[in-house]
Amino acid sequence: MAQKNIVIVGAGVAGLTTALLLSRERRYNIVVAAKHMPGDYDIEYASPWAGGNYMPVGAAGSKPAEYEKNTWAPLEDLARNRPEAGVHFQECHIYSRAKDADSATADWFNELLSPKAWFKDVVPNFRQLPQSSLSPEIKSATAFTSVCINTAIYLPWLVSQCLKNGVVFKRAGFNHINDAASSSLYKGQQVHLVVNCTGLGAAKLGGVQDQTVVPARGQIVIVRNVAPNMLATSGTDDGSDEALYVMTRAAGGGTILGGCYQKGNSDPQVDPNLAVRIMKRAVAMFPALTGGKGIEALDIIRHGVGLRPVRERGTRVEKERINGAWVVHNYGAGGAGYQNSYGCAQAAVKLVDEALKPSARL
Ligand code: FAD
Repeated sequence: MAQKNIVIVGAGVAGLTTALLLSRERRYNIVVAAKHMPGDYDIEYASPWAGGNYMPVGAAGSKPAEYEKNTWAPLEDLARNRPEAGVHFQECHIYSRAKDADSATADWFNELLSPKAWFKDVVPNFRQLPQSSLSPEIKSATAFTSVCINTAIYLPWLVSQCLKNGVVFKRAGFNHINDAASSSLYKGQQVHLVVNCTGLGAAKLGGVQDQTVVPARGQIVIVRNVAPNMLATSGTDDGSDEALYVMTRAAGGGTILGGCYQKGNSDPQVDPNLAVRIMKRAVAMFPALTGGKGIEALDIIRHGVGLRPVRERGTRVEKERINGAWVVHNYGAGGAGYQNSYGCAQAAVKLVDEALKPSARL
């Protein structure tokens, strides 16, 4: 069968995971073309800033939940069998406070907070923590085994796996999605299909211009201190769009203290007051982080700001023809781009296969 040439626009976790799965199909030649690549830290590039962990937020029965469900097994496999990928298991505790019932964070975490969450049969060791072990302000709490991904290792690892499979990487910025089908990208040959993994860039990219993709700003502090387990709460006392989560990355990657979920805010600057609130909340919840010595004993590696690419109707995994050329979309995962990466990429590969099957009209 003649090989087909595919250009994937975007080298975040969505583009790289899609490239990895497509490159396992020997019938495709693949180019990943992107403005930002692993190693870059930029406000237009969400993937390096993620914690990143597996805390499912998709509502039961929804597409996002299906993507998250399909992502657990590959991540579990990496944590168990591929230490070089920078993914490890971590015990995760989720705390729900009665007073957060209507907060933005509680809304975002609705499924995560449920004692009967759909993923209780997916992740290992899902259980409710006994009320007697909780402080009085905590209404209920669940625990399970999750994973934490060291993005500084994992993104380059994805690149290395793609390179091994023959994927070609190119720096390129596009004004229009059809520009990615230019023959100059693949040895002067016809490009048969473009995969759009541009995250927040999908709002501006010509031919796509999806105005329902908006930023949800996240600010983090990365510290050398090690947390005994991963945790997240339903809210904070510092405003509805602030959040408290803590996770320690694999392989000496430091501990991420978060954060916030500020929809519509794309300010790239670190807010120093918010940084202090983040550290205070983390240490108040987890005094063991600094051995009871307060935030002054936090050993800061760096502060960071990233923009989650939120799409109002959820991640767009669809195919369409744009000016006659096939495009498969995989963008808009919001705060869940890692935990749904394999599920979304599998769905995107299916669409590519459908579009390029021999009987399909090119
Ligand atoms: P991006 O990583 O933004 O990549 C977009 C790519 O497209 C880039 O390579 C860019 O250069 C390229 N691009 C865009 N436009 C163009 C163009 N016109 N031409 C060429 N190239 C273009 N998710 C989790 O699952 N778990 C977590 O714990 C988690 N924590 C997070 C914490 C924070 C603080 C933040 C900010 C996010 C977090 N996320 C988490 C969300 C996750 O980071 C995102 O969902 C994910 O990184 C999105 O990946 P992406 O590949 O779609 O987009």
